[in-house]
This record gives sequence, C-alpha cells and structure tokens, in this order.
Amino acid sequence: MSYSFDPIGIVHSCFHEKFAIPRQPSLAVAARGVLELYPPYDKPEALAGLEEVSHLWLLFVFHAAPSGPDHLRVRPPRLGGNQRVGVFASRSTHRPNPLGQSVVRLDSIEPGHLLISGIDLLDGTPVLDIKPYVPYADSVPQAHNGMAATVPDLIPVTWDNIAWQAAREHAERLQQPVVELIEQCLAQDPKPAYQRPTAERHYGVRFWDLNISWHYPQPNCIRVLSVKQQPSVSV
Ligand code: SAM
Repeated sequence: MSYSFDPIGIVHSCFHEKFAIPRQPSLAVAARGVLELYPPYDKPEALAGLEEVSHLWLLFVFHAAPSGPDHLRVRPPRLGGNQRVGVFASRSTHRPNPLGQSVVRLDSIEPGHLLISGIDLLDGTPVLDIKPYVPYADSVPQAHNGMAATVPDLIPVTWDNIAWQAAREHAERLQQPVVELIEQCLAQDPKPAYQRPTAERHYGVRFWDLNISWHYPQPNCIRVLSVKQQPSVSV
C-alpha cells in the first residue's frame, strides 16, 4: 500500500541553504519564517482557534535531502559525525520517508499566512500538516535521551566592527533580528565536528538576502567578518 500527500503550504524561511540551520527547532529563536497556506487551507475557517495557540507542530518534507540507497544507520552530527546509530534513533534527514517534524512558535496570524519563529527549516520546505502543540500531552518532563541529553554547547561569537554595523543596518532594512539570528546560529558551531579550522579558512552562509562570512581565530571561537547583501536577490 502506498500513500501520497499534497502540501498544504510552503515555508518562506530566513535559511537559504542547509548549512548553519540549527539542528532542531527553538535553538535559534531569532530564526523566522512565514508559512504560506495553499487554497483552500488559506481560508479563515481552517485557522479558526489558532489564536489560542502559542506553538505548532509542523509536519514537513525534507525536500532538499539527497535521496539514495536505504540507510539503516546514520551518523548524527550531535555525536560528532563519526558514530553510527539506527535511523530510527536519530532525527537525520536521511530517512525511509523524508518526513520532518518541528515545534515552532506561532508569532502571528495574517490572512493565508502564519508567522513563525524558532524554525529549523530551509526556505521552500513543503508543509504537509499543522497541529497545535498541546503542552500537557507533548511535554514529557521525565523523558530522557542519552544521545542528546542536554542543549548543545555554544561557542562564543565575536564581531568585526564593520560587520556588526552592517548587520544592524540590514536588520533595520529587513525588519528582522539579524544580529541575534547570526549569533544564535553561529554559536552552535555549524562546521562539521571533525573539521579543525585554521584561522585562514573562511566560512560563509546566506541568511535572508545576506551573505555572512566568518572564521575561527581559535578552534572554539567564531568571529563574524562580513555581512553583505547579495546582489539582486529577493527575500
Ligand atoms: N526538527 C526536524 C525533525 O526532527 O524532523 C528536523 C531535524 S533535522 C536534523 C534539521 C536539519 O534539517 C537542519 O539543520 C537542516 O540542515 C535540514 N533541513 C531543514 N529543512 C530541510 C529541508 N526542507 N530539506 C532538507 N533538509 C532540511
């Protein structure tokens, strides 16, 4: 038996590439996006009652995950990228069916659109369903996970003065918390765990329409080098 599903909407996200997206939701609260709903789910009837809800479960498709042979074991970045676990013990994007689930904050509701934050979703992510987060059922205070027992360690993020000023100016232009977004995402150290960066090596990523570049002056410390608007890109 097989099933097929049509998306009920699409996420327009601050994240335009997979690199440097937090590995779970809520790790960067400044990560914002808009969930555009497709007809007929853009009608007010479909959203009635959501104003009572602070957080949503989004069920979505990892549309940019590479398809390939079935992997029964995967190497989660959380375990340093060199230890394998069963696919069902991980939140890897390489799965039998490319389905993801994230709890996101519902900031506001506009006609046909939900403004969301704390996201870990790539721009263009197709959404299959939305469900309200139900604290008494979905939060399990005594739950444990030995492989991901605590929030990941953060590393310090420092700024070049010109980059800091540019980030503030683009925050004003975009009306988005650009400084916080960069700090919250880079503090999670997006580079692969096995890499030992030299100070000469520069890294880069695109958030909104901005190219961000940074390096590691010391192995566990990031310095943001530049924040520049990418020419002729819409956000
Ligand atoms: N919270 C979700 C879950 O548990 O199903 C996603 C966890 S997954 C480890 C998070 C990573 O998926 C992000 O860091 C990003 O690199 C990647 N990602 C996000 N949206 C994606 C998409 N639409 N297609 C492929 N990869 C995506």
